[in-house]
Amino acid sequence: MNSEFDAAMKRPLSGWGRYPLRDCAVRRPETVSALRQPIQASDVSLLSRGMGRSYGDAAVNADGYTILSERLNRMLEFNDRTGLLCCEAGVTIEDILQTFVPRGWFPTVTPGTKFVTVGGAVAADVHGKNHHRDGSFCRYVRRLTLILASGETVSCSRVENSDLFWATVGGMGLTGIIVEVEFFLRPIATAYYKTLNLKARNLQETLDLFDRYEPEYQYSVAWIDCLASGDSMGRCLLTLGNDATVGDLNRQQQERPLEIKPRRRLRVPFDFPSGLLNRYTVRLFNYFYYHRQRSAKVEKIVDYDSFFYPLDSIWDWNRIYGKRGFVQYQFAIPSAVSREGLTQILTLLSSKGCGSFLAVLKRLGAQEGWLSFPMPGYTLALDIPIRPGIWEFLEQLDRLVLDCGGRIYLAKDARMRPEVFRQMYPEFDRWLAVKSRIDPQNRFRSALSERLHIEPLPETATSLLGR
Ligand SMILES: Cc1cc2nc3c(=O)[nH]c(=O)nc-3n(C[C@H](O)[C@H](O)[C@H](O)COP(=O)(O)OP(=O)(O)OC[C@H]3O[C@@H](n4cnc5c(N)ncnc54)[C@H](O)[C@@H]3O)c2cc1C
Repeated sequence: MNSEFDAAMKRPLSGWGRYPLRDCAVRRPETVSALRQPIQASDVSLLSRGMGRSYGDAAVNADGYTILSERLNRMLEFNDRTGLLCCEAGVTIEDILQTFVPRGWFPTVTPGTKFVTVGGAVAADVHGKNHHRDGSFCRYVRRLTLILASGETVSCSRVENSDLFWATVGGMGLTGIIVEVEFFLRPIATAYYKTLNLKARNLQETLDLFDRYEPEYQYSVAWIDCLASGDSMGRCLLTLGNDATVGDLNRQQQERPLEIKPRRRLRVPFDFPSGLLNRYTVRLFNYFYYHRQRSAKVEKIVDYDSFFYPLDSIWDWNRIYGKRGFVQYQFAIPSAVSREGLTQILTLLSSKGCGSFLAVLKRLGAQEGWLSFPMPGYTLALDIPIRPGIWEFLEQLDRLVLDCGGRIYLAKDARMRPEVFRQMYPEFDRWLAVKSRIDPQNRFRSALSERLHIEPLPETATSLLGR
């Protein structure tokens, strides 16, 4: 390591789950040429990091530089006829909402927090509540600009350097640093959503409701009581939504249909005791949360902030899990086995009392990127506090997910084993061939890639794309 590396600012970094925590040498370049410097000037490993909203170890590189994209956040060009936005990768979804909602444009795909960068959204190929209808973030990306391990700047798309494009979307920052992204926003008439909130008494009803309402609604998401058992297993509150038209709004909203009131934010002021979220408190929370909606059906008009980003109204909510942190276990399983697979998994969760008060079920459609997470079927995300015995339990869950032909989301993972990863991502070899060609020295690394033994193949050609 060189002296420049030694002088870099050291900072403890983790993902949103606050596990694992590593000391990292951090760089905060302000321009693309400053960004190229650490790539060309040394041979240490590199990793780009956005807002650190991946949960596990994907955005942490303790061996070399972790390069923050927060200052590379310029909007470069916008076409108000087509909705094509070109911006630097450090621009956040929040920046986009603030700038473009008042002009009548919205990201077609957004995750459940607006505090993510465009680079992070591409690298994890994020999905939203409309994946089954509209696909993931990469579907709307026209072109990416990347800096490779060689220092070369390369542009890629579905037609130009397409293998690099498909390896980079969902590629978790391991192909290079995304510096610019061109992607389409979609037009909106209002900043509001017309929602239908339904109550299901068990898993059978939950899945039937998803099936029944899918053709009518663009967005769907369910909160599941994952500790309910017996006849109530899989009971849920399902939220469905479509864009609201100006005619759907009340008089006050109609005056400014593209403006919403700023929300009051609460803050979790300190780390809660680690054992606070246990099977008893979660069971109690789930009971009251499920019963807070009295009728089986409620219709509401809500603004985009409440609809897409309810958790963003509480700053630092990850502190409620205490200093030990938590893991988010998010898996997808294919349609053909969804009912049976979810039954087995929910039975295991409730029998071990290993519940999560945030348990989110969504419908997924087809996957595009080679390491992208979605597959046609369902995905369930569970926040699980770290406590003794948790790793063995999660390995049991891994086996069930594997038996179903499912997979775990890399953006949430902090503990999966390499052999499990390889079975879950069948297009990994294809991805690895590109990684081996463009980064034979394995310059782009993360704690996640090291844990999963993701390394270029030995003795592959070191030539760059197209040569
Ligand atoms: C409350 C909450 C809700 C969420 N809901 C969803 C959801 O509904 N759907 C979903 O798909 N995800 C969801 N996520 C996960 C989140 O969307 C992804 O992890 C996203 O990648 C985070 O973006 P970030 O900017 O914070 O990236 P980071 O967490 O900083 O990095 C994530 C990955 O992207 C890479 N990366 C970041 N910037 C670049 C760049 N410029 N070039 C190359 N690689 C880069 C990093 O190396 C890392 O591998 C949620 C997270 C939270 C905290």
